[in-house]
Amino acid sequence: MELNAMYGQLGVSPAVYAFGEKILTDLRERFDAIDQVAEYNQAKVLHAMQKNRVNATHFAATTGYGYDDEGRDNLERVYADVFHTEAALVRPQITCGTHALAVALSANLLPGDELLSPVGAPYDTLEEVIGIRPSKCSLKEYGVTYAQADLKADGTFDYDAIREKINERTKLITIQRSKGYATRPTFSVTQIGELIAFCKAIKPDVKIMVDNCYGEFVETIEPSDMGADMIVGSLIKNPGGGLAPIGGYICGTKECVERCAYRLSAPGLGQEVGANLGIMPSFYQGLFLSPTVVSGALKGAIFAANIYEKLGFACVPNATESRHDIIQAVTLGSREAMVAFCRGIQAAAPVDSYVTPEPWAMPGYDSDVIMAAGAFIQGSSIELSADGPIREPYAVYFQGGLTWYHAKLGILMSLQKLVEAGIVKLPE
Ligand SMILES: *Cc1c(COP(=O)(O)O)cnc(C)c1O
Repeated sequence: MELNAMYGQLGVSPAVYAFGEKILTDLRERFDAIDQVAEYNQAKVLHAMQKNRVNATHFAATTGYGYDDEGRDNLERVYADVFHTEAALVRPQITCGTHALAVALSANLLPGDELLSPVGAPYDTLEEVIGIRPSKCSLKEYGVTYAQADLKADGTFDYDAIREKINERTKLITIQRSKGYATRPTFSVTQIGELIAFCKAIKPDVKIMVDNCYGEFVETIEPSDMGADMIVGSLIKNPGGGLAPIGGYICGTKECVERCAYRLSAPGLGQEVGANLGIMPSFYQGLFLSPTVVSGALKGAIFAANIYEKLGFACVPNATESRHDIIQAVTLGSREAMVAFCRGIQAAAPVDSYVTPEPWAMPGYDSDVIMAAGAFIQGSSIELSADGPIREPYAVYFQGGLTWYHAKLGILMSLQKLVEAGIVKLPE
């Protein structure tokens, strides 16, 4: 069977397939550049694994307290080497990205300290961690105050405002790399490095934490190469490579990471406890695959931006700009278009492809939300997924894809559903 016939079998019409192929012909150079970043990062990961003599004993399960868990301890050395940090905490006991960030913050802030975000509001879930929205056990309840310098209208750092906000109580500065579900640009690692240097010039002993979610392996350098004291992320996003079924990481200075370990387990116990319960093979192998998986997700994001921009929809990032995370926002302009898009993503999935996504009133949101995900691991957003709140400007956030080919199919299916719904007409 010809390839286009295979796509036909999956539900993609010849016209949609042809349109996609036409868009792709102009993307070869960009895809080559992405492959080069993946190759570099693959070498980085391999070198760290070889240096730490990874072997079969590291894949063994431990139970109970998990004393002398060599597989866990060695994985942390591998992560520290990959991200060029003194130490790392990589654990299945860290349940998600928010948990990892909450541990990093609460371990390194004491009553009377102030936390500063120099890049505007943080990710939604951190509002409750910090206490911006009142919440039990928030940092605010423990006497940690919060200050924020907003970005300038053009999305750049407001250095004057940041200088003004740094005071004698400023203990930790949090920088979110990815835009998350905001409309601001995602920062490059170089931009983050400039911001870190600026803050440290004003206050040399201030600690800098970077929320690295969705950013790992998109570039050849990470914020930890640019002076961050801690970088933090989720293993069901980029660095888990789609295989890690749970987990988070904190990589950074020995001083900061040690405190995180005491906060995660208990004072006095720290990194010494925490059984791996047999999860190590997926952590090691997922990290090994991550550079390639991230490259596929990036190609998907760029393909989507080029398809939808060509059809007149606004895309953030746009079709040509450089990439610093794997998220693609597409402003579709109507509820119907969002639903059709998400149904296409769902229909392309390896799991739950027969399910029809519907908008629903998700807890914590003030409008209906639609989500498409057919993932092997629940909530995994390195796997192909799309979601968005049903409100102006009716934008879907699209991310992931364990392989480029799956990301490609997902985008073609989203377009197929938009064409079938009469919302999009393909150019002749
Ligand atoms: C996903 C994400 C988080 C939170 O991660 P969860 O695993 O969903 O708790 C935090 N910050 C950013 C920028 C993210 O993308």
